[in-house]
Amino acid sequence: MTKLYAVYGASGCGRSLMPVARQQLARQQEPAEIVFIDDALTEITIVNGHRAMNYPQFKAEPVSFKAVLIAIANSQVREKIALTLEQDGLPLWSVQADNTLLMDTVELGAGAALSPFVTITSNIKIGKCFHANLYSYVEHDCVIGDFVTFAPGVKCNGNIHIEDHVYIGAGAVIKQGTPAQPLVIGRGAVVGMGAVVTKSVPAGVTVVGNPARILTSK
Ligand code: UDP
Repeated sequence: MTKLYAVYGASGCGRSLMPVARQQLARQQEPAEIVFIDDALTEITIVNGHRAMNYPQFKAEPVSFKAVLIAIANSQVREKIALTLEQDGLPLWSVQADNTLLMDTVELGAGAALSPFVTITSNIKIGKCFHANLYSYVEHDCVIGDFVTFAPGVKCNGNIHIEDHVYIGAGAVIKQGTPAQPLVIGRGAVVGMGAVVTKSVPAGVTVVGNPARILTSK
């Protein structure tokens, strides 16, 4: 093999994305191997039929082309690993399931992971290392930053701006904004599972419930 692709993370997220990565590779029609990278491993082992190794072992693999999908839900960890990969000259790999749908004028940053049944409609810009889990959608005219994570079933309607490092929990619904006044989810905010977000969310807070309200610790 002259090419080696990796899914970085062999826990829940990585093991769920490996079949998506296989679909991606099949579409690319390249003879290549896909391995797991996981820094918890001390020796090379097999996980779900794929070789699995730590990052130094991956770097030592004698192959001329390597690319990596970071399959870890924690966005801070994704950013840290993306930086290491950049410093080591290793490109990010983007994967999408066969049944994802991307409509017109979608700008998708490097290192994206689009799980089965994800739909991205038209005129959408998305940054680096976006994760959209099962059945999530992004509607028209949304702008999404870097290292954003959607759990399964996120309903992101039109004219919404989501800043870097936002996490949206499973089944959350975000009300659409307008071209003049997009609904904004601020940097690093967390939207709890099942939340119904009806207005903009400040950076760094957690919102929960219907209608979503800021969670304060008591
Ligand atoms: N991990 C890693 N390098 C890091 C940080 C995490 O290889 O710098 C691995 C960690 O060993 C674990 C996985 O990433 O196997 C993260 O798994 P976790 O269950 O925390 O989350 P998820 O799979 O849901 O993202």
